[in-house]
Amino acid sequence: MRIQVDSEKCQGHNRCYALAPELFDVDDYGNAMVIGDGSVPPELEERARLAAANCPEFAITISD
Ligand code: SF4
Repeated sequence: MRIQVDSEKCQGHNRCYALAPELFDVDDYGNAMVIGDGSVPPELEERARLAAANCPEFAITISD
């Protein structure tokens, strides 16, 4: 699994970071980015889905 953040859509609510700080980081403006290349280890896949489902801007996409 791999995750991506669309920086055009992200409005910096930080929900993804609050839900999965192992997968997301935020810059000084609160906008999110994935950590590393966005690869999600199996044990964090559920958390990645939770973060994507809770992003109010639908800025997080998940691919296999
Ligand atoms: S939850 Fe969505 S809008 Fe909020 S910081 Fe994360 S990616 Fe951006």
